[in-house]
Amino acid sequence: MGKETEGMQEMQKVGIKERRIPVLYLVVPCYNEEEVVEKSAQVLGDKIRRLTRAGQIAAGSKVMFVNDGSKDDTLRLLHRIASQDTLFSVISLAGNYGHQSAILAGMMTARRYADAVVTIDADLQQDIEALDRFLESYMAGSEVVYGVRNDRRSDGIFKKGTATLYYNLLHLLGSKVITNHADYRLMSKKALDALAEYKETNLFLRGLIPTMGFPSDVVYFDVKAREAGHSKYTLSKMVTLATDGITSMSTRPLRMISALGFIVFVFSFVMSIISLVDWARGNNVPGYTTTMIVSLLIGGVTLLSLGIIGEYVGKIYMEAKHRPRYIIDTFVWKEDNEADDKEERTK
Ligand code: UDP
Ligand code: MG
Repeated sequence: MGKETEGMQEMQKVGIKERRIPVLYLVVPCYNEEEVVEKSAQVLGDKIRRLTRAGQIAAGSKVMFVNDGSKDDTLRLLHRIASQDTLFSVISLAGNYGHQSAILAGMMTARRYADAVVTIDADLQQDIEALDRFLESYMAGSEVVYGVRNDRRSDGIFKKGTATLYYNLLHLLGSKVITNHADYRLMSKKALDALAEYKETNLFLRGLIPTMGFPSDVVYFDVKAREAGHSKYTLSKMVTLATDGITSMSTRPLRMISALGFIVFVFSFVMSIISLVDWARGNNVPGYTTTMIVSLLIGGVTLLSLGIIGEYVGKIYMEAKHRPRYIIDTFVWKEDNEADDKEERTK
């Protein structure tokens, strides 16, 4: 009770209407997670039950798994879990669309039923107990709550180093991305409805959501080691996400090319004058080294620039197609207390 009055004072302070206890959906993307999915269902389901009993979330709250085209036994296990308990719902995508699209599919489906949605990885690395603080912040008026990891102790040197470098680069390029926030995040129905208006294929939710500008908050949590299995983010998936992160949020690299072009132009202009003066003085030395350096430099800069421009042209091409960002193959969702009456929705 004490917590509730505290929350209400907070709301009056920021002038927000009192919220009702939300129906909460946990959206859990799964790609080849057969080793961990049963444990996840147990831990996440248990947390939802405890929160419901404590009156922190409303009845009808659920765990919604999104199978992202797994090639192992994940989908069969998920269907079994959902057939035993209406607490669990399963969306299965037609293929492997990637983490971001899987989360999007889950959130866009969950917003039909939920007042708030939290996305969390299947591997239980993100501390589910932080959910209490997500909810407190939601009750106090936040539309978006970002989970931020306390440290990167559980990561290897390579992941830690590249992550730090990457966040610095993103900030340098003007992105509003929140450092050390991976997609463990609460969004209210209002924020999700707004997100639905963004139609981009080049999806980088961590960069996009902060630009929407709702009242938001940050909750810190500890990262644990993966419960089982290994990381599903291959190096190429990581590189794709990293480039999407840059190209979807900023066109600054293009402007940097213009700047670079200008510098190279000034440089070659000066070099031309020097060569001309040399020639006029009769110092007609065969300048092999200078010639090589200049042509290599200009060649390199040109190719790099073309590559960067090409990256954007490719993205424009993909956006212009307006392809669906995911396709739902099957969807299992059952009304509470109707476990026997098999209301299975297949889309
Ligand atoms: N994931 C997904 N589709 C993919 C790759 C990953 O849905 O193509 C899911 C994966 O099952 C997990 C989450 O995204 O629930 C995060 O992946 P992972 O834990 O492998 O990444 P890491 O924590 O190593 O960055
Ligand atoms: Mg993980």
